[in-house]
Amino acid sequence: MSSGAEDTAERAAELRRLIEHHNHRYYVLDDPEIGDEQYDAVLDELRRLEESHPELATADSPTQRVGGQPVSRLKKITHARPMYSLANARSEEELRAWIGRMRNHLAREGIEEPQFAYVAEPKIDGLAISLLYRDGKLAYGATRGNGEVGEDVTHNLLTIASIPQEVEGAPPVLEVRGEVYMSLPDFAALNDRRAAQGLSTFMNPRNAAAGTIRQLDPKLAAERPLSMWCYALGSLEALDLETHWDALQWLRAHGFRVNGDVRRLQSEDEVVAQCLDWQERRASLDFEIDGVVVKVDDFELQRRLGVVGRDPRWAIAWKFPPTTAVTRLLRVDWNVGKFGDLHPFAVLEPVGVGGVTVKLATLHNEEDLARKDVRRGDEVIVLRAGDVIPQVLSPAPHAVERPDREPPPRPPEKCPDCGTATVKPDGSVFTKCPNRGGCPGQAWQLLKHFVSRGAMDIEGLGEETVSRLMRQGLVSSAGDFYRLNTEDIAALEGFGSVSARRIVEAVERSRERPFARVLFALGLEEVGEVTARNLAAHWRSIDALTAATPEEIAQTPGVGPKMALRIAEQLADPDMRALIDDLKRQQVKLDMEGAPPGEGPLRDQTFVLTGTLPNLTREQATERIMAAGGKVTSSVSRKTSYLVAGEFPGSKLEKAERMEVRVLDETGLLALLDSPATAQS
Ligand code: NAD
Repeated sequence: MSSGAEDTAERAAELRRLIEHHNHRYYVLDDPEIGDEQYDAVLDELRRLEESHPELATADSPTQRVGGQPVSRLKKITHARPMYSLANARSEEELRAWIGRMRNHLAREGIEEPQFAYVAEPKIDGLAISLLYRDGKLAYGATRGNGEVGEDVTHNLLTIASIPQEVEGAPPVLEVRGEVYMSLPDFAALNDRRAAQGLSTFMNPRNAAAGTIRQLDPKLAAERPLSMWCYALGSLEALDLETHWDALQWLRAHGFRVNGDVRRLQSEDEVVAQCLDWQERRASLDFEIDGVVVKVDDFELQRRLGVVGRDPRWAIAWKFPPTTAVTRLLRVDWNVGKFGDLHPFAVLEPVGVGGVTVKLATLHNEEDLARKDVRRGDEVIVLRAGDVIPQVLSPAPHAVERPDREPPPRPPEKCPDCGTATVKPDGSVFTKCPNRGGCPGQAWQLLKHFVSRGAMDIEGLGEETVSRLMRQGLVSSAGDFYRLNTEDIAALEGFGSVSARRIVEAVERSRERPFARVLFALGLEEVGEVTARNLAAHWRSIDALTAATPEEIAQTPGVGPKMALRIAEQLADPDMRALIDDLKRQQVKLDMEGAPPGEGPLRDQTFVLTGTLPNLTREQATERIMAAGGKVTSSVSRKTSYLVAGEFPGSKLEKAERMEVRVLDETGLLALLDSPATAQS
C-alpha cells in the first residue's frame, strides 16, 4: 500500500473510532461530549472518504448503521423490519438537491416525471420507538437500538397514557412507529428537581426521554411524564393503504396520537415554505423539534426509491440550526439591574448556536447560578431558541466529574458600575448595589425599560442610543425623552436629521400609550405588566393610586399586602413624585380610558388568550377586553368564560375543549367587543 493510501485508511479507522466513541456517549450514556453539528461533520468526512475510496467501506461502518449497540440489561428485540435513520438537508439547496436525486433515481428506474406529493412532519427531538400489537393487543414496545436490534422498553411505555394498549379493528400483526419525547416544561421541571437533589441534569429533552425510557424501573418513567407522536406503520401488508398520508389518517382513527401539524404538500416550493415556517415557529411549541421530516407520500414510489446505507431515499430531515451547543465558560460577570440587583451572566468561548455566534449568555440570578452549579472553566450547555436571550443551561454532564474544578462563583463585593459596597438584604434573592438614584448602571436600566416594547415602546431608542444620550447629558430621567429635539439627536455621531426626526416622532407617539403601560414603564419594583394592568384597571388614575394607603392598594386584584406596601413606599418617594409630575406635564396618559371595572359589556367575563391572532397583539387584545370591563387570566379553568385562540394555539386549547370552555377566534372576540348580547347567545 502506498503511504497516501495508508494515511487514508488510517484516517478512516480513526474517524470510525471517533464516531463509535460519540455514538456510545450519545445513544448509550445520554451524555454527548460534542454538539450535533460537530458530530455530523465527522460523519460527513467519513462518508466522503468511503465514497472516494470504496475499498475502505465496511459493512459495519457507522455510515451504514444507525445508533449505538444496545448494551443495557434490557431484553433485546429484533425488529421485523429495520428502523432507519434519515439523511439531512441543512439548507434549501440541499432539500432541492434531494428531490433532484430522487428524480434521477426514478428516471434510471424508467419512471420519467414522477408526480410527487409530500408529507411534511415536525421532526420531534425524542427517540424512535416501535410498538408491536398482536390481535389488537400491545405485545411489546422497543427502542430503535442499532436499527436491527432494539431494547424491550414495554414496562416504561405502559406509563405513557396516550399509547393505546388495545386497538380495535387492527390486523393480526400491527407495528406502529413514532417518537417518544418529553415536553419542554416537563424537561425543565425534571432538570430543576435533579439539580435540587444534587444530581446531574440532562443536556436536552431528547437525552432526558432516552434516559428515562431505558430505565429498568418503571416507577422512574411514571414520575417523568413522556408522550408519543406516531408517524408510521412498520408494515403495511394487511392494510389496504396507498399513501403515507392515508396511513397517518388510519393511525389517528385507531386511537394513536398523530401530530396535528402534519401537512400534505404538492410542490417543492410548498415543501420549502413549510420547512421555513416551522423553523420560525419552533420556539412557540411546547416540545422540542430539531427539524422537519419530508416524506414522499406514495408508497409505491417509496418502494421504488428504496434505502441507501442507513437512510431511506424517499425521506429527508430538514435540520434547523441547533439551539444548544457545548462551549467553555470563561468567567461569570455581573451587571446591575433596574433596582440595583446584581445579575450574573456568562462570558463564553464564542460558539455558533441557533444560527449566530454567542459570546455572552444569561444566568438569571444567584439562585439560578447556584442551582446550575457552573464554574469557571467548565464545559457548559448553551441554549439559544428563537429570539430569546441565550442562556446557560448547565455544565455538560461530564464537566462535573473534573477533579480540578474551580470553586463556585460569588457575587462581587463592589458594584461593577459605581463601586459602592454591595449588600444582600434579608429575604432577597439578589445581592444589590444600594446606590439607588446615584448608580449610572441602574439609571440606564430604568431608562431602557421605559422605552422598551411592553412599556412606552419608543422605536429607534435601543440600549446603545439610550446610553449615548445619557453620556451626552441629554437624558437623565424618563421625562427628558419628551424634551429631545431633532438637532440634539442629529448631533450624535451616526445620526442624520431623518433618523433623528424619526426618534422624536416615535417619542411623540408614545404619549398615546394607555395608562397601564405608563405605570409599567415607571419601573416600580413588584410592578410587572400584569400588576400594572390590574392597578390601572382598579385605580383608574395615578392620582387615585398615589393617594391610596398600602391597605387600600392591597385591595387590587392580584396584589398582596407586602407588594402593596412596597408599591406605596416607592410612589411616595420624592424622586418618583417628581418623575410623575414631569410626565404629567409631558401629557403622557396617567389615567384610564374605557369602562371602569365591573362595568362595561364584558363585565364578569374572564378570558384566556392563546396562539397568535391575525391582527391584534396579545397586549392589544388584553387592553380591549379590559377596557370593556372583562378580565384576562393566564390559565384555563372552569371559571374561564372564553378562550381566544389564534394560530398555533398551545395546550390551552386542548384544555378548553376538554372543559367545554367556549373558544373564539379574533373575529369572534371583536364581535363580542362590539355586540356582546348577540355573540353570547
Ligand atoms: P436523526 O435524528 O437525524 O433522524 C432520524 C430520527 O428522527 C428517527 O429515528 C426518528 O427517531 C426521528 N423522527 C422524529 N420525527 C420523525 C418523523 N416525523 N418521522 C420520522 N422520523 C422522525 O437520526 P439519528 O440517527 O437518530 O441521530 C442522528 C442525530 O444524532 C444527528 O443529528 C447527530 O448529529 C446526532 N448525534 C450526535 C452525537 C453527538 O455526540 N453529539 C452522537 C450521535 C448522534
